[in-house]
Amino acid sequence: MDQNGYLIQVRDLKKYFYRERLFSAAKEPIRAVNGITFSIRKGETLGLVGESGCGKTTAGKAILRLIEPTSGQILFKGKNILDLNREDLRRLRPQMQFIFQDPYESLNPRMKVGEIVGEGLEVHRLAHGKEKAERVSEILQKVGLHPGDALRYPHEFSGGQRQRIGIARAISLHPELIVADEPVSALDVSIQAQILNLLMDLRDQLGLTYLFISHDLRIIKHISDRIAVMYLGRMVEMAKAEDLFQRPTHPYTQILLQAIPRLGPSRRRSELPFREELRPQTSEKGCPFQPRCSYTKERCQIEEPLLIDQGEEHFVACHLVSRSH
Ligand code: SF4
Repeated sequence: MDQNGYLIQVRDLKKYFYRERLFSAAKEPIRAVNGITFSIRKGETLGLVGESGCGKTTAGKAILRLIEPTSGQILFKGKNILDLNREDLRRLRPQMQFIFQDPYESLNPRMKVGEIVGEGLEVHRLAHGKEKAERVSEILQKVGLHPGDALRYPHEFSGGQRQRIGIARAISLHPELIVADEPVSALDVSIQAQILNLLMDLRDQLGLTYLFISHDLRIIKHISDRIAVMYLGRMVEMAKAEDLFQRPTHPYTQILLQAIPRLGPSRRRSELPFREELRPQTSEKGCPFQPRCSYTKERCQIEEPLLIDQGEEHFVACHLVSRSH
């Protein structure tokens, strides 16, 4: 943790992918994450919300270096992890863990649950043999599973139980930071609350810090201290959770919030009431939200708005908003 209480500080993080162009040797950049900056205090949960394709999962993976960022800085306890070599990163890895959206795909079907949860302990030489078995048993109980479940295979469990196994694996190495990528969106609505409550209990018991990624603002509101709204690789608004719901300021956030009562569990996010579908930004100029915005004006086509603090840690990137202090 640095002197400001931040566990992690992300500065101007970019992750570009490149795709072939027809009739051209030059490759076209896909700016999946296009310069995001934010910090998370120790013990805090920052919710990262946005439509599918906005770059939030890529951002989460890049922050843990599960994929290599294109540029930027990621300070974990004040140290830039992009400067770490493979061995130093391997040593740091237990402190930063990832929970995947689909627990079934992320669990090796040929491994027993005890092997899955204990694998990290073995790899990082933290426990072996009987001690490892005892640790696995403790961890399984912490996430609401039975010690005997260590001998069963993932396919023998329900979706909610499989996500508990994924969570057990993530906490097995006593991490400080967990990036949870849509951890409840593949689950039945009735099970979602149980897993969210488990994540919140573990945060309090183990002093965890979360970056919690979801397309669903209702879920994000439930668990987050602050919320960051992402659009086409950029942050467009970031505020304390209550403040964001009381004072949504960016036109995109306002539409996301207005859509909540109409979006039942089965509604798809593509049904959000926009003039245009979400498309990659073709021009580097101007506001990325401009093609879908009802308030767009000439300046929006020329100049990209910066994320500016409007007071009380409420940041907004929109030309409609002027600095209030
Ligand atoms: Fe809309 Fe302009 Fe604000 Fe972008 S900067 S959200 S286009 S008003």
